[in-house]
Amino acid sequence: MLIVNNFIGGEWTGSSSGATFESINPADTSDVVAVVSRSVREDVDNAVEAAKGAFRRWRLTPAPRRGEILFRAAELLAKRKKELAELMTREMGKVLTEALGDVQEAIDMSYFMAGEGRRLSGETVPSELPDKDCKSVRLPIGVCALITPWNFPMAIPAWKIMPALVSGNTVVFKPSSYTAACAAQLVEILQKAGLPAGVLNLVNGSGEEAGGYLAAHDGIDGLSFTGSTAIGLAIAKGCAEKGKKVSCEMGGKNAIIVMDDADLDLAVEGAVWGGFGTSGQRCTSSSRVVVHQAVYDRFLKMFSDAASRLRLGNGLDEKTDVGPLINEAQMKKVLNYIEIGKGEGATLLTGGGVCREGSCAKGYFIEPAIFAGVTPGMRIAQEEIFGPVVSVIKARDLEDAVRTVNNTAYGLSSAIYTRDVNKSAYAERELDTGIVYINASTIGAEIQMPFGGTKRSGYGHEEAGGRGGALDMFTKWKVIYRDFSGKLQKAQIDR
Ligand code: NAP
Repeated sequence: MLIVNNFIGGEWTGSSSGATFESINPADTSDVVAVVSRSVREDVDNAVEAAKGAFRRWRLTPAPRRGEILFRAAELLAKRKKELAELMTREMGKVLTEALGDVQEAIDMSYFMAGEGRRLSGETVPSELPDKDCKSVRLPIGVCALITPWNFPMAIPAWKIMPALVSGNTVVFKPSSYTAACAAQLVEILQKAGLPAGVLNLVNGSGEEAGGYLAAHDGIDGLSFTGSTAIGLAIAKGCAEKGKKVSCEMGGKNAIIVMDDADLDLAVEGAVWGGFGTSGQRCTSSSRVVVHQAVYDRFLKMFSDAASRLRLGNGLDEKTDVGPLINEAQMKKVLNYIEIGKGEGATLLTGGGVCREGSCAKGYFIEPAIFAGVTPGMRIAQEEIFGPVVSVIKARDLEDAVRTVNNTAYGLSSAIYTRDVNKSAYAERELDTGIVYINASTIGAEIQMPFGGTKRSGYGHEEAGGRGGALDMFTKWKVIYRDFSGKLQKAQIDR
């Protein structure tokens, strides 16, 4: 069992109240992964103060030097990849191959942002006047609060921490309570890589108490949040009222379209992986599949056969396909949606029950569930369930399918399986989501590309990855005009 403290001003320290909470393995609730400091307001105040104090020197540290620290962190992450992935699987349940991918994203982001230390470019443009030049430079915002969810315990914090740091900001990081041990490992690696005291501060604690207080703190200059839509929008509102820069990446109700000309084996594999990977607990999970009427019955049969073959269990066992849900509350929420679906008249084709057999006995396991006969307006087709539940909806044609996909409050990710280049081009243009996949499932992102959603999936569009998105969130522009003509300004007003 690990002891996870806060990291404030370069020191690992317990909560000033002495209070703690436990981080539990969702695949085996008798396994306490870590005992974690439960921060109170005073701890958040101290972390913000430390970040403020460190800002002056860090912003003046040459960006390439800042990048070198991130490069060293990437090397350390890579060295410890397997051990970190195993901890992740134990702490939040995703199967080991997915956890390895999560750590790999953190490694990739660290290398990528290390390189940005040598770019961080603005623009130099011609002036309309002789003997004058114009340029724009990127500057750090100041103290950035970063609040992250549990489903990507290293990738998402890295998406935020690395661009924030390379841009010259200092950070107060509040990770999810469910993945505090993973977060502490990431912070420790950055410390070992040579980050000066106070540049990155970690406060653990409950979302409402520590997270809410941090989000509303007058000492922060910007905030980047990833998590549920309701909390994200409340945070965005609070920041807007105070004039703080904010970006929120939030929930999704992602969909795959399967056309009549699709390679059905590929489409089924995409629907299984997109719907049930990470037990359906990805922001990009494909919780809807919209199928052309001509292949609807065939697809349903293939999809439900494949889903019923999935093996549930502890993610550290390499035979496991699907791990547990994160906690009891989430399990109850998913079971409630299964009842809602049945009540709405959808047909539960497979799964949907709690699994308590064998290695599932002490965890939060639900059998992968597929609903057929779902209509676009049903709650199970509209609301984010965040569990292994997929709704299959019949479509008349491509236009009908695209309309159905766009007919939700969310807009994170979508996919189409088709062999027809014209259909894929139409879908690419018309699907109102931040990410569109052609002949691939709704999940998977590369850190050199922007990432983010439309509508209630994204506010402020941080687009965590990519150059523009991440750096735009964590920098502000300053434009500089230099006149070396020696002429009075008044004389130059009208050319
Ligand atoms: P969540 O409950 O919204 O929590 C996210 C983070 O916010 C956690 O650190 C949480 O702390 C904290 N928090 C909770 N209440 C807060 C409050 N009142 N003020 C400030 N912070 C607060 O979300 P989650 O269950 O961790 O993650 C699942 C959600 O995240 C899903 O909706 C999913 O779609 C979304 N997500 C979106 C993306 C994306 O890129 N669009 C990526 C991943 C996940 P505690 O853990 O301590 O409660």
